[in-house]
Amino acid sequence: TKFSDLNLDPRVLTAIEDAGYETPTPIQEGAIPPALTGQDVLGIAQTGTGKTASFTLPMITLLSKGRARARMPRSLVLAPTRELAAQVAENFDVYAKHTKLTKALLIGGVSFGEQDKLIDRGVDVLIATPGRLLDHFERGKLLLTGVQIMVVDEADRMLDMGFIPDIERIFQLTPFTRQTLFFSATMPSEIERLTNTFLSNPARVEV
Ligand code: AMP
Repeated sequence: TKFSDLNLDPRVLTAIEDAGYETPTPIQEGAIPPALTGQDVLGIAQTGTGKTASFTLPMITLLSKGRARARMPRSLVLAPTRELAAQVAENFDVYAKHTKLTKALLIGGVSFGEQDKLIDRGVDVLIATPGRLLDHFERGKLLLTGVQIMVVDEADRMLDMGFIPDIERIFQLTPFTRQTLFFSATMPSEIERLTNTFLSNPARVEV
């Protein structure tokens, strides 16, 4: 398979070329086609497999039509740590560089003021750690009812860190009709239960 066979937005394909990627990795080959049709995806993959691009590339493609509204992000990526969230944001910048899509990174240790300003202006992609996202929500600064795509990255690490109740709460704040792309390196029973509750007929892609 070539990237050009995957139905990605041409601006995404240009960014992939700029990055020097030649062929999709197995998780990308498995996850991108169902994600682009709007199906939920359960990706079982470790870091280093190219899983970040496997959800970022279809997300950018799907969001490339339409525009963000104030305080209502169109998509949400949850990561367990500040460092991981920041890495996802860097990846997004690389792959979205030929589009006009906007993002905000909501992580602890950064003042609320700058993050509020971005959210007020409207962002296509919100990348956050669960606690910080809920802080913003509880301050009344953010609505999650416009979320069309929700990504959970490294769910098993979220479990280790005690974030499952936060994740469940966030799922419940987003529309029932959202598309969910869910990634975990392993599938302990708590994670299996979470996916059974919140994913709808997912394509299961294991690498
Ligand atoms: P990840 O598993 O998302 O942390 O990605 C691991 C590394 O692989 C990152 O540095 C990516 O830039 C790189 N990468 C992702 N997809 C590809 C690809 N198809 N070809 C070459 N490198 C890639």
